[in-house]
Amino acid sequence: MAAQTVASTTNSAEAVDLGPAAALSCRECGHRVPLGPVFACEECFGPLEIAYDFSAYETEELRKRIEAGPANIWRYAPLLPVPADVADKPNINPGWTKLVQADNLARELGVDAGKLFVKDDSGNPTHSFKDRVVAQAIEAARVFGFTTLSCSSTGNLAGAVGAAAARAGFRSCVFIPHDLEQGKVVMAAVYGGELVGIQGNYDDVNRFCSELIGDPAGEGWGFVNVNLRPYYAEGSKTLAYEICEQLGWKLPDQLVVPIASGSQLTKIDKGLQELIKLGLVEDRPYKIFGAQAEGCSPVSVAYKAGHDVVRPQKPDTIAKSLAIGNPADGPYVLDIARRTGGAVEDVNDEQIVDAIKLLARTEGIFAETAGGVTVGVTRKLIENGLLDPTLTTVVLNTGDGLKTLDAVASDTGLTATIRPNLDSFREAGLAS
Ligand SMILES: *Cc1c(COP(=O)(O)O)cnc(C)c1O
Ligand SMILES: [Zn+2]
Repeated sequence: MAAQTVASTTNSAEAVDLGPAAALSCRECGHRVPLGPVFACEECFGPLEIAYDFSAYETEELRKRIEAGPANIWRYAPLLPVPADVADKPNINPGWTKLVQADNLARELGVDAGKLFVKDDSGNPTHSFKDRVVAQAIEAARVFGFTTLSCSSTGNLAGAVGAAAARAGFRSCVFIPHDLEQGKVVMAAVYGGELVGIQGNYDDVNRFCSELIGDPAGEGWGFVNVNLRPYYAEGSKTLAYEICEQLGWKLPDQLVVPIASGSQLTKIDKGLQELIKLGLVEDRPYKIFGAQAEGCSPVSVAYKAGHDVVRPQKPDTIAKSLAIGNPADGPYVLDIARRTGGAVEDVNDEQIVDAIKLLARTEGIFAETAGGVTVGVTRKLIENGLLDPTLTTVVLNTGDGLKTLDAVASDTGLTATIRPNLDSFREAGLAS
């Protein structure tokens, strides 16, 4: 079975060719190991991330190569840990989603005209940003010889893994908390993979997956957000690349990013730093703001208290896609928010619903609860004077409202019910 290939890859120093990816490097101590399906440093247990060798790139040639690439994340293949022939493999090819200039929303929030943008990642194949990270993980899984893909998920990841596995011909078996929104459950199940509900919250699901990984029951499985996490995480950099390219190869001044595990926010910062180092954008300051729901706000609480460590919480919020009470990358998010001069803020469930409706009514974008969190937090940051409404600001919408209909179902509905005739229409007071 393919699992044997994995063992030989990890145990020997046999070189794996993942394009410009050179090694895995520990975020804490810098210890380097060869590319393989490992995620924790053998010296200090810190998280491993991909280290690249970009030295062969010449800036303007690289820019041209990217611009001539496909209208999906693979236009950035030279900056990702993927084999050279990735474009020929069956993949759901996410990315190159719209960057919407949100002038109507800007007016409502008091932001200068032309300065506010929504990066709308609901436009991905399974309607969330998770397609970006899974697309990376699945290419790594292929290289390492895994045949089953798995994950612990707050909902969107389960759907993204199901779809990507179906298209690429992998078995998938994914784990979610048993009480997720129906839209997320259906979306995860429809692709025909195995979907297991765990009696517990996301943090329980994640703990279970860590156990499964060390057990023969999970042998040969690629867990996209555990043993493939270093590769998976790099997918979030493509959000940073696209935003800058879509702004005409310019850094935005401010970004508002949702936080679940904190991986996305951390890698957006990594992506922006890479663009600066490669000379693809001008080196100038930017601020990254993190957004959480009050009912699951471990990073926001730590930020406001001035702490460097994040105390786990038991989540209770309608923003279930962000409901990770013990976020793995929490401390790195705190670093980035502080280093860039951003902040971390949270909004309550009522503010999330109001923000979903505000974005829908102003820009015609129906966000999931995570988008309600970022738009709601943007409003709060402007009110608090932390976000400058005169500067270019990009707010992320990372998922589709159709998956979280319940959040707004109780306050939306028919304007009127009438008989099919004009008198009845006039009586309802709707005539022009
Ligand atoms: C997973 C997810 C995020 C962010 O996840 P991180 O774990 O912080 O990378 C944001 N929005 C949505 C809709 C998600 O599903
Ligand atoms: Zn280390």
